[in-house]
Amino acid sequence: MKYDIAVIGAGVVGSAIARELSKYELKVILIDKEEDVSEGISKANSGVIHAGFNVKTGSMKSRFNREGLALLTKTADELGVKYKICRKLVIAKNDEEKPYLLKLLEQGRKNSTPGLSIIDRETIKTLESNIEGKWALYSEKTGIITPFLFTIALAENACENGVIVKLNTEITKITKEKESYKLFSASGELISESRWVINSAGCASDNIASLVGDNKFKIHPCRGEYFILDKAHSDMLNMAVYPVPPADGSGLGVHFTPTMNGNILIGPSAEYINDRDDLATTKKTMEQLKKEAYELMPIIKNFGFIKSYAGIRPKLFNSQSNSNFEDFHIAESDVNPRFINLIGIESPGLTSSPAIARYIVEDIIGEKEDLTRKKEFDGRWKGAAKIYDKNSDEYLSLVKRDSDYAQVVCRCEHVTKGEIKKALNNPLKARSLKAVKKRTFAMTGRCQGGFCLSKLIDILQKEYSIKTDEILRLR
Ligand SMILES: Cc1cc2nc3c(=O)[nH]c(=O)nc-3n(C[C@H](O)[C@H](O)[C@H](O)COP(=O)(O)OP(=O)(O)OC[C@H]3O[C@@H](n4cnc5c(N)ncnc54)[C@H](O)[C@@H]3O)c2cc1C
Repeated sequence: MKYDIAVIGAGVVGSAIARELSKYELKVILIDKEEDVSEGISKANSGVIHAGFNVKTGSMKSRFNREGLALLTKTADELGVKYKICRKLVIAKNDEEKPYLLKLLEQGRKNSTPGLSIIDRETIKTLESNIEGKWALYSEKTGIITPFLFTIALAENACENGVIVKLNTEITKITKEKESYKLFSASGELISESRWVINSAGCASDNIASLVGDNKFKIHPCRGEYFILDKAHSDMLNMAVYPVPPADGSGLGVHFTPTMNGNILIGPSAEYINDRDDLATTKKTMEQLKKEAYELMPIIKNFGFIKSYAGIRPKLFNSQSNSNFEDFHIAESDVNPRFINLIGIESPGLTSSPAIARYIVEDIIGEKEDLTRKKEFDGRWKGAAKIYDKNSDEYLSLVKRDSDYAQVVCRCEHVTKGEIKKALNNPLKARSLKAVKKRTFAMTGRCQGGFCLSKLIDILQKEYSIKTDEILRLR
């Protein structure tokens, strides 16, 4: 129950921090209110590894985006998580929009973003024959990653290296002792006592700060809705394609993003809402997304959509001016020593996450504590369940050892019983349909679980004795 450091929030940022801390001789606990990691903002975003030209020069966003671009791919390589440097176009429909591209190019140069150039309609067509536009900013270094899988890998690897991961635990009370903080759950249970607390609670980070009397932050949730195209259209797009964004700074505009799994994402919208848990998708917004998407890629009129979803941007407003902060707030609290707040971690928070983690550990904590590196840290994630190449020698030898790997459960995504069982045996003990879905992609294909759901329920019941009600509650 006594720890050196407690991290509240197991999204990509909290999980990256926990993994970074697991490299040192420290007792660390990572706490999340949900039944699995990556159930907040880190589950529902575009999954783009931003190259760094979109963010204001000199900001924390620009620093961590630049450092994160290199560090995220290095971390993903260490863990064994796949990503792709797919490239990106920002499209100007006409000459009037071209100055915005030149502004981005200039900002990118100031931010030391590599691989940027302006290209014309003909070159756009050679790169993306289905995209309409007169000019584009071309970025060679933009990439994609599956955000929830990266988060799971970070958290599970932190756990494999000694971090205690406590799920289903909402922190609702924090008391400040002389040299430590005590964290209590909603049921009144004392969850941890630690010298340091890291508040990485995403959309709830302002509430967590106010539990210890720091009331100056206010998150305004801004919902972004997406829809997903059927995999059958995956060869229609090679790279991420963005429009010139709306002038109000709410987001980067409705864009097309290929996913690592072969789908194309379209979105997100940008709508300020009152309820930060409201992840509804609406017909009205879907129609608007389609309208904007058709302008960039007219051919999608004929394509099939398989699903919609939404994510929430944790927009941080200045309570005095009520205008948007443009930057992340990442600092030790000025009223609570050794209490670090990460607030307003919107885009490019995924890209920045390993760089933020290194900053927190080496620069903020490392300045006050003598940190000793662990000799036995192993950065390779052991829990990867999904086997992408079913013709590989690795897969064939698995089948010889365990025939469950030859039994296909999810036909759309070709997921085997062996992969599902491996996913369910994760070190975090997250045993739900959602946990299986995020680790294997079962139920994410065209039929959305219509075929495999009953088989998955059967496995959860037979192998883990979980009741049907409970399985469906955590769907
Ligand atoms: C629409 C959209 C698109 C985006 N696209 C990109 C992109 O392409 N590239 C990019 O780099 N970034 C992108 N981002 C930004 C990126 O997704 C976020 O910056 C990042 O996921 C934030 O991670 P986090 O760990 O801070 O928050 P979260 O993932 O939300 O994690 C916070 C965690 O805290 C937990 N929690 C909350 N309250 C409590 C409590 N009281 N007790 C215990 N646990 C609690 C939650 O359950 C949650 O798991 C996008 C964001 C959005 C919304």
